[in-house]
Amino acid sequence: MTDYNWCHGPECHTQETQSRVRGSGDNKVLRTIKIRVNSHNQYGNSIFDYFCNTRCLYDYLREHAQAISAIAPRREALETPIKVEKEKYESYRYDWGGNGATKRVPYQATRTKIIS
Ligand SMILES: [Zn+2]
Repeated sequence: MTDYNWCHGPECHTQETQSRVRGSGDNKVLRTIKIRVNSHNQYGNSIFDYFCNTRCLYDYLREHAQAISAIAPRREALETPIKVEKEKYESYRYDWGGNGATKRVPYQATRTKIIS
């Protein structure tokens, strides 16, 4: 089944592209983009079933961010358990000396490696 959505971008109908021009004679308008939605799409629902481009998507998100986040509020941080490993590696710093002779000085550094 093939269906259509109007792009939800609040400024979609103001973007000056050939694909938005409708009407005849002196009654031309820029119209919101109509998006063809195929429900048999193997990739399932796409955000671009509702927005014709990323500008329209972000315009909508910017305008409705509070309402959108109220749909599924995040009231506390989430955590993912991990294992970490301290790893030593060879690094270096620069010794600017003072007499104009810059030296590269090696040293043993440590970094934390995440083991999933
Ligand atoms: Zn749009």
